Amino acid sequence: MVEDLSSDAELIKHEVKKSGIEFVEQIVETREDYIQAIQNFNPDIILSDYSLPHFDGMQALLIRKEVAPSTPFILVTGTINEETAVEVMKAGADDYLIKEHISRLGEAIKTAIEKREIIRLKNIAEEKVKILLRAVEQNPVSIMITNIKGDIEYVNPKFTQLTGYRLEEVLGKNPRLLKSGKTTAEEYKRLWEAITSGSEWHGEFQNLKKNGEIYFESATISPITDEKGNITNFVAVKEDITEKKEIDKRVKLLAHSLESISDCVSITDNGNIILYVNEAFLQTYGYAERELIGKHISIVRPPDMEVEPTREILQETNKGGWRGELVNRKKDGSLFPILLSTSLIKDENENAIAFIGVAIDITERKKLLDDLVIAKEKAEENDRLKTAFLHNISHEIRTPMNAIVGFSEFLSEPGLPPEKQRHYVDIIIQSSNQLLSTITDIISISTIEAGQEKIHEKEVNLNAVCNLVNEQFLAKAQSQDVNLLCKTTLADNEASIITDEIKLNQILTNLIGNALKFTKQGRVDFGYAVKGDQLEFYVKDTGIGIPPEMHNEIFNCFRQVETTTTRQYSGSGLGLSISKAYIELLGGKIWLTSEPEKGSAFYFTIPFKPAISKSSADMQSALGLKIDQKKARTFLIAEDQDSNFMVLKELLSALNVNIIRALNGIEAIEICKNQPIDLILMDIKMPMMDGYEATKRIKEFLPNIPIIAQTAYTMNEEKERALQAGCDNYLTKPFKKADLLALVNQYGGEDTNLKIAK
Ligand code: ADP
Repeated sequence: MVEDLSSDAELIKHEVKKSGIEFVEQIVETREDYIQAIQNFNPDIILSDYSLPHFDGMQALLIRKEVAPSTPFILVTGTINEETAVEVMKAGADDYLIKEHISRLGEAIKTAIEKREIIRLKNIAEEKVKILLRAVEQNPVSIMITNIKGDIEYVNPKFTQLTGYRLEEVLGKNPRLLKSGKTTAEEYKRLWEAITSGSEWHGEFQNLKKNGEIYFESATISPITDEKGNITNFVAVKEDITEKKEIDKRVKLLAHSLESISDCVSITDNGNIILYVNEAFLQTYGYAERELIGKHISIVRPPDMEVEPTREILQETNKGGWRGELVNRKKDGSLFPILLSTSLIKDENENAIAFIGVAIDITERKKLLDDLVIAKEKAEENDRLKTAFLHNISHEIRTPMNAIVGFSEFLSEPGLPPEKQRHYVDIIIQSSNQLLSTITDIISISTIEAGQEKIHEKEVNLNAVCNLVNEQFLAKAQSQDVNLLCKTTLADNEASIITDEIKLNQILTNLIGNALKFTKQGRVDFGYAVKGDQLEFYVKDTGIGIPPEMHNEIFNCFRQVETTTTRQYSGSGLGLSISKAYIELLGGKIWLTSEPEKGSAFYFTIPFKPAISKSSADMQSALGLKIDQKKARTFLIAEDQDSNFMVLKELLSALNVNIIRALNGIEAIEICKNQPIDLILMDIKMPMMDGYEATKRIKEFLPNIPIIAQTAYTMNEEKERALQAGCDNYLTKPFKKADLLALVNQYGGEDTNLKIAK
């Protein structure tokens, strides 16, 4: 209260109290007190007298305007003229009162305070609107407001910035001026249906800028309603997503590229946790995506992979990249080699945020490399073997050649006694055979390696083949204190099978030859047994045996256990490779068991194909000979050994002859006395009566009967004695088919009509 008269002040207070307003007051008289009171007392209303001794109401009003503009101000005065009243009201007073009408004061105070409150609220509201407007104006997204017809009423500056259209250019226009034609009519329909029914619509537009450029925006359009719920406007809040779309497109392209790469791509975070793997990775490792994402990369490493290399890879990757070979593990636990390249993925501040690894399965590549290394080693080994073979072969050829050349020279010495002469001839023949067999082996292996070896099957009697081979080696076995035993399990008449006789013979010869070569004393057993549809042959010896590491090796060409130059055993190292090749050609396999110092057992199989019938035509071809047969003849074979008899019988079976057997000399004489015999094949060593004696006696009563002695290979005196006893000729055991047939042909004479031609 600005008042100098306390009576007036009391009057005013009384009047205010009367109107029911509760209050406290401060009364001031001077300008200074007034300003202080406004600031410190902070009144809700100022009641001021017009004229005071040192101050006046007009000044008080002006000060209030400065210091507390929102505080209501009422002028209460004794007298006031109309002019002054107008002036005071113009200067901002809320009301004025003449003290005479003081009863109106309560009402005036209430009105002034209410009016001020309304103004305050209005100011707040205006301030809010201003803020909102600024928010819309300065918004980084573009905002458009339309009326319910869709005519544009407002666009913010961002809209202008984006589209190039200023507010005044679009005011009252329809937003379709932005249409690019790429948004479908149905989409617009859906949009209108949504917003006119009061819902919000979200979607994307492909729109056109003022300059014709296309841009993408994501929009939310919603209706604005008044307090009654009627739609008055629509507001569209739109964001330019052109760049985002472009990035999305690139990210998609990148992801697609990673997926179509055939190498295994993986991305892991700083803690080695898998963030991404591509399709090739899943295929190669056998996992489903969910089994790998979020797992530690060690899931694909072998359980025992050391920490050290992992650390090294990480360090190198941090420096720029790592590339090397590793072993990885698939889901099924199998391990496989990979070639891995790793590198860092950095953010825009050059901080490492992830690792990318590209792995290639190099199983095939490694295998190829290994194969190449093996092939190279094999080629080198072959080279070494061939050199060794050449040394060997030169030894194998030189030894018999030396004997042949040397002893041929000795033969020409004058006055050489006949026994020595015969001995030298024997050595020369033996050496020639040895030479021939070496050369045959070399030719055989060349034919095999050239893939030219063929099989020629025919009907063959197994027992005869075995007996023939047995016969062939008997003398050699006896000479070196080895017991040679042949066991045939099929009866002779059931032992006819279809196979390649020459090859079977060769295989047995090679194996038994080896057995005898590598056995100083003891025994060599051989034979066969039927096992299902296979015939299983065996050749067992009690010789030097073969170390286990050589069991496979010895079947390779030129491989021999002994490799030193001071070799004890002769041989070219070809026998077993030839045998193996022949066995495989025949449809069988070969293997062995052996223990050094104890002996060896070689086994092989061939298919068991029993022969159904025997035809003479078959036999003809079997011998490779053409025989003229007119008349059946009868030959006597005096032979105590079954095997020898079997051999002869088999060899002669091609000729149309009857064969009668005598087990000893006495039986032979008996048979000759009782029936006509055309030819006798006489064994020398026989029980009861030997061949010499029997020949002598038979020649006494049948002087013209041809008798051919069978003598042991090495014993020259045997042959001599046989001729003296009256034999017409002799066959040396083991004899060759051709030799036997030649003699039979010769002593059968013209009248036997047995003509043999190759
Ligand atoms: P060769 O006998 O001509 O050397 P082979 O191919 O027949 O050639 O045999 C190869 C090697 O296998 C022989 O040199 C020998 O070291 C070993 N071998 C073969 N058979 C026997 C065996 N019965 N006992 C011991 N070693 C054998």
